[in-house]
Amino acid sequence: MYGHAAKFITRHGIEATAEMIKYEISHLRILADVIEREKIDCDLTLTRSFDVYFDQEVMDKVRHGVEPLLSDSYQQGKYEFMKDADFRFPTTDHPLTEEDLKETKVKGAKGFVSFPAGHIWPYKFISGLLEIAVSKGLNLQTNTPVLEISPQRDEEGYWKISTGNDRGVIRARKVILATNAYTSALAPEYAKAIVPCKGLCCHIVIPQSSDQDADQKLPPRLTNTYVTRHGSGAGGYLIPRPDGSVIVGGTSHTFTPFLEQWHNNPNDDVLIDAAKQYLDGYMQRTFVGWENSGAYSREIWTGVMGYSADSLPHIGVVPSKEGQLILAGFNGHGMPVCFLAGKAIAQMALCDNVIFEDTGLPRVYKTTSDRLETKYNDTLQP
Ligand SMILES: Cc1cc2nc3c(=O)[nH]c(=O)nc-3n(C[C@H](O)[C@H](O)[C@H](O)COP(=O)(O)OP(=O)(O)OC[C@H]3O[C@@H](n4cnc5c(N)ncnc54)[C@H](O)[C@@H]3O)c2cc1C
Repeated sequence: MYGHAAKFITRHGIEATAEMIKYEISHLRILADVIEREKIDCDLTLTRSFDVYFDQEVMDKVRHGVEPLLSDSYQQGKYEFMKDADFRFPTTDHPLTEEDLKETKVKGAKGFVSFPAGHIWPYKFISGLLEIAVSKGLNLQTNTPVLEISPQRDEEGYWKISTGNDRGVIRARKVILATNAYTSALAPEYAKAIVPCKGLCCHIVIPQSSDQDADQKLPPRLTNTYVTRHGSGAGGYLIPRPDGSVIVGGTSHTFTPFLEQWHNNPNDDVLIDAAKQYLDGYMQRTFVGWENSGAYSREIWTGVMGYSADSLPHIGVVPSKEGQLILAGFNGHGMPVCFLAGKAIAQMALCDNVIFEDTGLPRVYKTTSDRLETKYNDTLQP
C-alpha cells in the first residue's frame, strides 16, 4: 500500500490516502478474527511483509510519496498506523549498512519498508465461508453464468436476470455485481473503468533431497512475505508455504510489451508463459542462501484481474440503476479490500436508508458516473 501512496496523495490528498491505508490495515485483524471465530482452516499466517527496493529511482519515488505521512502529523500521532511501518531508506546523513539490510534476507537491496501482514489460502477461506452460509440457508448456484441483466426494471420494480446452462430467469429487486474483471459484460458502462487484465502466479519448489544434485543445498526457510522491486514494474511478490516452497506472483515486466496477451483479455484458458525463465532463477538471484537450491517453478497459472482506470475499486450503487450495487475493480489487490467492501454492500442492500457514506468505506472508492468516464488510464501503467 505504501508503494502507491505517492500517486494517491497527488490525486486525492493526504487525508483520503490515509483513509485507504487505514482501511486496508484493518482487514488484517478483522479477517484473522473471522477465521478464528468461524474455525476456517485456510492456512492463516500473521507475519511482516518486506517491500524491498533494488532500484534507486523507484525507491526515491516511493520515499517522496510517503514523506507527508511521516512528517509532522506523524510525530503528533495523527497517523497512528504508521508506527507499525518500519521505513529503511538510505539518506545522505544515514546511509544503510549491510547490517541494516540483513533482516530482509535478500541480496543487493538498497532499502525497504516492512509492516504487519498476513497470508491465507484464499480458496480455502472462501469455500469455508460459503459452507457456513449454505448451512444457514444460502441458495448457492454454481456453474450458472449470468448472460444478461435487463436494461430497465419491470413495472413492479424487478430486474430480470437471464442465466445460462438451462438455469432460467431470476427476478430481483436488488442485484449485486461482484463480477470484478468481467463486470462490463453485464454493465457495459464500466467498459472503460474496469478492464480485464491477466496476471500470473507460480509455485516454486525445491527438489526433494533424493532428486538434488550433490552441490544443491536446502535453502533457509522464509517466514515473511515480500515484494521485490527490481525496477519500474519489474520484480515479484511472494508468500512462503509451510513446506519451504513459495508462491510467487507479479513479474509483469516479462509480458507487458505483449499487450494482446494480457490487456483487455479475459481469457484464462491461455497461459502467459513469458515469465517461466525469469521465475526459474528468481529465488536464486534474489535470496541469500538460495543460490544452489535448484528451486524451480513447478506450476504456473494465469488469472484475470479487474484493473480500474484510476486504480481504485468501484463500490456502491451503479449510477442510474437503482437497486443494482457493485463491488469490483480490485486491481489485483483485493485481499485487503474485498471483505469489508462486501460487508458494506450487504448493509446497503439490506437497508435502503444506508448510503455509501454511512459504511465507513474510503470516500474515493465510491462508484460515480464521473469515474466511468475516467480521466486516468492506469491500466496501461499498472
Ligand atoms: C495471478 C493473480 C495473483 C493475485 N495475487 C493477489 C495478491 O497477492 N494479493 C491480493 O490482494 N490480490 C491478489 N490478486 C487479486 C485477487 O485475486 C482479487 O482482487 C480478488 O479475487 C477479487 O475478488 P472478487 O470476488 O471481486 O473477484 P473474482 O475473484 O475475480 O471473482 C469474480 C467472480 O465473479 C464470477 N462472474 C463474473 N461474471 C459472471 C457472470 N456473468 N455470471 C456468473 N458469474 C460471474 C466469476 O466467475 C468469479 O467467480 C491476484 C489475482 C491474480 C489473478
